Amino acid sequence: MGAFSRSPWILHYDASSCNGCDIEVLASLTPMYDVERFGIVNTGNPKHADIFLVTGSVNAQNVKVLRTLYEQMPEPRVVVAVGICATSGCVFRECYNVMGGVDTVLPVDVYVPGCAARPESIIDGILQAVGLLEKKSAYMKSTHGRMKDMAIGRAVPLDAPEILALQKIVYQNEAELYDDWSLAPLKQTLEEMKADFDNRIFIKAVVGGKIIGSIRGYMVGDTGHVTRLIVHPFFWRQGIGAKLVQAMEGFLPQAKRYETFMGQKSLHTMEPYQQLGYAKVREEKVSELRDRVYFAREVR
Ligand code: SF4
Repeated sequence: MGAFSRSPWILHYDASSCNGCDIEVLASLTPMYDVERFGIVNTGNPKHADIFLVTGSVNAQNVKVLRTLYEQMPEPRVVVAVGICATSGCVFRECYNVMGGVDTVLPVDVYVPGCAARPESIIDGILQAVGLLEKKSAYMKSTHGRMKDMAIGRAVPLDAPEILALQKIVYQNEAELYDDWSLAPLKQTLEEMKADFDNRIFIKAVVGGKIIGSIRGYMVGDTGHVTRLIVHPFFWRQGIGAKLVQAMEGFLPQAKRYETFMGQKSLHTMEPYQQLGYAKVREEKVSELRDRVYFAREVR
Protein backbone atom coordinates (compact mmCIF):
# COMPACT_ATOMS: atom_id res chain seq x y z
CA MET A 1 0.00 0.00 0.00
CA GLY A 2 1.51 3.34 -1.03
CA ALA A 3 1.77 6.47 1.08
CA PHE A 4 -1.13 8.20 -0.67
CA SER A 5 -3.58 5.32 -0.92
CA ARG A 6 -5.19 6.07 2.41
CA SER A 7 -4.82 9.83 2.68
CA PRO A 8 -4.95 11.85 -0.53
CA TRP A 9 -6.14 15.39 0.27
CA ILE A 10 -7.83 17.46 -2.37
CA LEU A 11 -7.97 21.19 -3.00
CA HIS A 12 -11.00 22.28 -5.01
CA TYR A 13 -10.91 25.55 -6.93
CA ASP A 14 -13.81 26.96 -8.93
CA ALA A 15 -12.08 28.80 -11.78
CA SER A 16 -15.18 30.10 -13.57
CA SER A 17 -17.64 27.26 -13.33
CA CYS A 18 -21.41 27.75 -13.65
CA ASN A 19 -21.48 25.88 -10.30
CA GLY A 20 -22.87 22.76 -11.95
CA CYS A 21 -19.57 20.88 -11.59
CA ASP A 22 -18.97 22.34 -8.13
CA ILE A 23 -22.26 20.92 -6.87
CA GLU A 24 -21.19 17.52 -8.19
CA VAL A 25 -17.77 17.79 -6.49
CA LEU A 26 -19.60 18.53 -3.22
CA ALA A 27 -22.01 15.66 -3.90
CA SER A 28 -19.07 13.28 -4.19
CA LEU A 29 -18.05 14.33 -0.66
CA THR A 30 -21.50 13.70 0.83
CA PRO A 31 -22.39 10.36 2.53
CA MET A 32 -24.27 9.24 -0.59
CA TYR A 33 -21.13 9.02 -2.76
CA ASP A 34 -18.74 9.19 0.19
CA VAL A 35 -15.37 9.88 -1.39
CA GLU A 36 -14.05 10.12 2.19
CA ARG A 37 -14.19 6.33 2.40
CA PHE A 38 -10.89 6.47 0.47
CA GLY A 39 -9.43 8.74 3.16
CA ILE A 40 -9.90 11.75 0.90
CA VAL A 41 -10.23 15.04 2.73
CA ASN A 42 -11.25 18.33 1.13
CA THR A 43 -8.80 20.94 2.41
CA GLY A 44 -8.76 24.69 1.90
CA ASN A 45 -5.00 24.88 2.34
CA PRO A 46 -2.90 24.22 -0.81
CA LYS A 47 0.12 23.43 1.36
CA HIS A 48 -1.72 20.37 2.68
CA ALA A 49 -3.12 19.22 -0.66
CA ASP A 50 -1.98 16.46 -3.01
CA ILE A 51 -4.69 16.68 -5.68
CA PHE A 52 -5.83 19.94 -7.28
CA LEU A 53 -9.43 19.66 -8.53
CA VAL A 54 -10.33 22.50 -10.87
CA THR A 55 -13.78 23.24 -12.29
CA GLY A 56 -14.52 25.87 -14.94
CA SER A 57 -12.35 27.41 -17.62
CA VAL A 58 -9.33 29.71 -17.33
CA ASN A 59 -9.56 33.45 -17.82
CA ALA A 60 -7.34 36.48 -17.19
CA GLN A 61 -8.84 36.98 -13.73
CA ASN A 62 -8.21 33.51 -12.34
CA VAL A 63 -4.95 32.52 -14.06
CA LYS A 64 -2.75 33.98 -11.31
CA VAL A 65 -4.84 32.37 -8.58
CA LEU A 66 -4.58 28.99 -10.30
CA ARG A 67 -0.81 29.30 -10.65
CA THR A 68 -0.37 30.49 -7.06
CA LEU A 69 -2.43 27.65 -5.61
CA TYR A 70 -0.55 25.13 -7.76
CA GLU A 71 2.85 26.54 -6.78
CA GLN A 72 1.93 26.33 -3.09
CA MET A 73 1.15 22.61 -3.29
CA PRO A 74 4.05 20.34 -2.37
CA GLU A 75 5.51 17.85 -4.86
CA PRO A 76 4.32 15.36 -5.89
CA ARG A 77 1.01 16.91 -6.93
CA VAL A 78 -1.62 16.02 -9.47
CA VAL A 79 -4.07 18.27 -11.33
CA VAL A 80 -7.55 17.01 -12.20
CA ALA A 81 -9.68 19.04 -14.64
CA VAL A 82 -13.32 18.39 -13.73
CA GLY A 83 -15.97 18.94 -16.40
CA ILE A 84 -15.69 19.94 -20.01
CA CYS A 85 -15.13 23.63 -19.17
CA ALA A 86 -11.97 22.76 -17.22
CA THR A 87 -10.98 20.25 -19.89
CA SER A 88 -11.22 22.49 -22.95
CA GLY A 89 -13.19 25.67 -22.25
CA CYS A 90 -16.36 24.00 -23.60
CA VAL A 91 -18.72 26.33 -25.52
CA PHE A 92 -17.01 29.29 -23.85
CA ARG A 93 -13.71 28.44 -25.51
CA GLU A 94 -13.94 31.15 -28.18
CA CYS A 95 -15.21 33.85 -25.79
CA TYR A 96 -13.10 37.01 -25.70
CA ASN A 97 -12.38 36.54 -21.98
CA VAL A 98 -11.74 32.77 -21.91
CA MET A 99 -8.21 31.43 -22.38
CA GLY A 100 -9.25 27.76 -22.58
CA GLY A 101 -9.08 24.69 -20.37
CA VAL A 102 -6.89 24.31 -17.29
CA ASP A 103 -4.08 22.83 -19.37
CA THR A 104 -3.59 26.28 -20.89
CA VAL A 105 -1.76 27.22 -17.69
CA LEU A 106 -1.13 24.05 -15.66
CA PRO A 107 0.01 20.53 -16.53
CA VAL A 108 -3.24 18.54 -16.21
CA ASP A 109 -2.84 14.88 -15.26
CA VAL A 110 -6.46 13.66 -15.34
CA TYR A 111 -9.43 14.90 -17.38
CA VAL A 112 -12.93 14.14 -16.06
CA PRO A 113 -15.50 14.55 -18.85
CA GLY A 114 -19.10 15.66 -18.48
CA CYS A 115 -21.30 18.72 -18.27
CA ALA A 116 -21.77 18.55 -15.43
CA ALA A 117 -19.25 15.85 -14.48
CA ARG A 118 -21.05 13.12 -12.52
CA PRO A 119 -19.90 12.27 -8.97
CA GLU A 120 -19.00 8.72 -10.09
CA SER A 121 -16.73 10.18 -12.79
CA ILE A 122 -15.19 12.64 -10.33
CA ILE A 123 -14.42 9.84 -7.88
CA ASP A 124 -12.97 7.79 -10.74
CA GLY A 125 -10.78 10.79 -11.70
CA ILE A 126 -9.62 11.23 -8.10
CA LEU A 127 -8.69 7.55 -7.84
CA GLN A 128 -6.73 7.82 -11.10
CA ALA A 129 -5.00 10.83 -9.56
CA VAL A 130 -4.08 8.77 -6.49
CA GLY A 131 -2.43 6.19 -8.77
CA LEU A 132 -0.47 8.97 -10.49
CA LEU A 133 0.58 10.41 -7.14
CA GLU A 134 2.02 7.03 -6.21
CA LYS A 135 3.90 6.89 -9.52
CA LYS A 136 5.24 10.45 -9.19
CA SER A 137 6.30 9.78 -5.62
CA ALA A 138 8.11 6.59 -6.65
CA TYR A 139 9.79 8.47 -9.51
CA MET A 140 10.97 11.26 -7.21
CA LYS A 141 12.40 8.69 -4.79
CA SER A 142 14.09 6.79 -7.62
CA THR A 143 15.73 9.92 -9.06
CA HIS A 144 16.79 11.36 -5.72
CA GLY A 145 20.56 11.13 -5.50
CA ARG A 146 20.80 9.58 -8.96
CA MET A 147 22.00 12.61 -10.88
CA LYS A 148 25.31 10.85 -11.43
CA ASP A 149 23.33 8.37 -13.58
CA MET A 150 22.02 11.14 -15.87
CA ALA A 151 22.54 10.38 -19.56
CA ILE A 152 22.73 13.13 -22.18
CA GLY A 153 22.32 12.18 -25.82
CA ARG A 154 20.60 12.92 -29.09
CA ALA A 155 16.80 12.79 -29.06
CA VAL A 156 14.72 11.26 -31.84
CA PRO A 157 11.21 12.14 -33.12
CA LEU A 158 9.75 9.41 -30.88
CA ASP A 159 10.84 11.58 -27.92
CA ALA A 160 8.73 14.51 -29.17
CA PRO A 161 5.65 13.91 -26.94
CA GLU A 162 7.77 13.75 -23.78
CA ILE A 163 9.85 16.81 -24.75
CA LEU A 164 6.69 18.75 -25.65
CA ALA A 165 5.10 17.93 -22.26
CA LEU A 166 8.29 19.09 -20.51
CA GLN A 167 8.39 22.26 -22.63
CA LYS A 168 4.84 23.15 -21.57
CA ILE A 169 5.69 22.71 -17.89
CA VAL A 170 8.80 24.89 -18.16
CA TYR A 171 7.20 27.61 -20.29
CA GLN A 172 4.25 27.92 -17.92
CA ASN A 173 6.80 29.29 -15.47
CA GLU A 174 8.07 31.63 -18.20
CA ALA A 175 4.55 32.80 -19.02
CA GLU A 176 3.95 33.61 -15.38
CA LEU A 177 7.24 35.52 -15.23
CA TYR A 178 6.19 37.80 -18.12
CA ASP A 179 2.43 37.64 -17.52
CA ASP A 180 2.26 36.60 -21.16
CA TRP A 181 0.40 33.37 -21.98
CA SER A 182 0.84 33.73 -25.73
CA LEU A 183 4.41 32.33 -25.76
CA ALA A 184 4.99 30.20 -28.86
CA PRO A 185 6.48 27.20 -26.95
CA LEU A 186 3.23 26.92 -24.97
CA LYS A 187 1.19 26.76 -28.14
CA GLN A 188 3.44 24.43 -30.14
CA THR A 189 1.70 21.28 -31.37
CA LEU A 190 3.15 17.79 -31.52
CA GLU A 191 3.17 17.91 -35.33
CA GLU A 192 5.12 21.18 -35.28
CA MET A 193 7.67 19.74 -32.89
CA LYS A 194 8.07 16.59 -34.98
CA ALA A 195 8.64 18.82 -38.04
CA ASP A 196 11.38 20.66 -36.09
CA PHE A 197 13.33 17.39 -35.95
CA ASP A 198 13.89 17.77 -39.74
CA ASN A 199 16.06 20.89 -39.33
CA ARG A 200 17.10 20.94 -35.68
CA ILE A 201 19.31 18.74 -33.53
CA PHE A 202 17.49 17.80 -30.32
CA ILE A 203 19.39 16.70 -27.24
CA LYS A 204 17.83 15.20 -24.13
CA ALA A 205 18.91 14.64 -20.52
CA VAL A 206 17.47 11.44 -19.09
CA VAL A 207 17.25 10.33 -15.46
CA GLY A 208 15.57 7.08 -14.46
CA GLY A 209 14.20 6.62 -17.99
CA LYS A 210 12.48 10.05 -17.99
CA ILE A 211 13.46 13.11 -20.04
CA ILE A 212 14.14 15.87 -17.54
CA GLY A 213 15.88 18.35 -19.84
CA SER A 214 16.32 19.21 -23.49
CA ILE A 215 17.92 21.70 -25.86
CA ARG A 216 17.96 22.13 -29.62
CA GLY A 217 20.36 23.65 -32.12
CA TYR A 218 21.15 24.33 -35.77
CA MET A 219 23.77 26.00 -37.96
CA VAL A 220 23.37 29.20 -39.98
CA GLY A 221 26.65 30.08 -41.73
CA ASP A 222 29.42 29.97 -39.13
CA THR A 223 27.04 30.41 -36.21
CA GLY A 224 25.70 27.56 -34.11
CA HIS A 225 22.28 28.56 -32.76
CA VAL A 226 21.54 26.97 -29.39
CA THR A 227 17.89 27.35 -28.38
CA ARG A 228 15.07 26.33 -26.09
CA LEU A 229 17.01 25.09 -23.11
CA ILE A 230 14.48 23.42 -20.81
CA VAL A 231 15.01 21.61 -17.51
CA HIS A 232 12.19 20.33 -15.31
CA PRO A 233 11.86 22.75 -12.34
CA PHE A 234 12.33 19.83 -9.94
CA PHE A 235 15.92 19.50 -11.29
CA TRP A 236 16.90 23.17 -11.35
CA ARG A 237 20.18 24.36 -9.83
CA GLN A 238 22.04 21.10 -10.42
CA GLY A 239 24.12 22.20 -13.40
CA ILE A 240 22.03 20.31 -15.97
CA GLY A 241 21.50 23.42 -18.14
CA ALA A 242 25.24 23.99 -18.61
CA LYS A 243 25.77 20.29 -19.44
CA LEU A 244 23.06 20.45 -22.10
CA VAL A 245 24.55 23.61 -23.66
CA GLN A 246 28.01 22.00 -23.76
CA ALA A 247 26.55 18.84 -25.30
CA MET A 248 24.80 20.88 -27.99
CA GLU A 249 28.02 22.75 -28.80
CA GLY A 250 29.63 19.35 -29.24
CA PHE A 251 27.00 18.50 -31.87
CA LEU A 252 27.80 21.76 -33.75
CA PRO A 253 31.63 21.46 -33.89
CA GLN A 254 32.01 23.51 -37.09
CA ALA A 255 30.67 26.68 -35.44
CA LYS A 256 33.00 29.67 -35.09
CA ARG A 257 30.55 31.28 -32.68
CA TYR A 258 27.50 30.16 -30.72
CA GLU A 259 24.44 32.30 -30.19
CA THR A 260 21.29 32.07 -28.10
CA PHE A 261 18.52 34.32 -26.84
CA MET A 262 16.03 34.51 -24.00
CA GLY A 263 13.67 36.96 -22.33
CA GLN A 264 15.11 39.73 -20.18
CA LYS A 265 13.75 38.21 -16.96
CA SER A 266 14.78 34.60 -17.58
CA LEU A 267 17.76 34.67 -15.22
CA HIS A 268 17.69 30.90 -14.60
CA THR A 269 18.14 30.35 -18.37
CA MET A 270 20.87 33.00 -18.66
CA GLU A 271 22.92 31.53 -15.83
CA PRO A 272 24.27 28.37 -17.54
CA TYR A 273 25.19 30.32 -20.68
CA GLN A 274 27.02 32.97 -18.66
CA GLN A 275 28.87 30.25 -16.76
CA LEU A 276 30.13 28.97 -20.14
CA GLY A 277 31.37 32.39 -21.27
CA TYR A 278 28.41 33.65 -23.33
CA ALA A 279 28.18 37.45 -23.23
CA LYS A 280 25.27 39.75 -24.04
CA VAL A 281 25.54 41.07 -27.61
CA ARG A 282 22.23 42.83 -28.29
CA GLU A 283 18.66 43.28 -27.17
CA GLU A 284 15.41 43.77 -29.06
CA LYS A 285 11.81 44.42 -28.06
CA VAL A 286 9.44 41.65 -29.13
CA SER A 287 6.28 42.84 -27.35
CA GLU A 288 5.07 45.24 -24.68
CA LEU A 289 5.84 42.56 -22.10
CA ARG A 290 9.06 41.05 -23.35
CA ASP A 291 12.50 42.01 -24.58
CA ARG A 292 14.70 39.43 -26.26
CA VAL A 293 18.32 39.38 -25.07
CA TYR A 294 20.95 37.77 -27.33
CA PHE A 295 24.07 36.12 -25.91
CA ALA A 296 27.03 34.81 -27.91
CA ARG A 297 30.32 33.02 -27.40
CA GLU A 298 33.20 33.22 -29.87
CA VAL A 299 35.21 30.04 -30.41
CA ARG A 300 38.92 30.66 -29.92
S1 SF4 B 1 -18.82 21.64 -17.60
FE1 SF4 B 1 -21.01 22.24 -17.64
S2 SF4 B 1 -21.66 22.08 -15.50
FE2 SF4 B 1 -19.43 22.10 -15.48
S3 SF4 B 1 -18.87 24.24 -15.20
FE3 SF4 B 1 -18.94 23.88 -17.40
S4 SF4 B 1 -21.01 24.43 -18.05
FE4 SF4 B 1 -21.04 24.20 -15.81
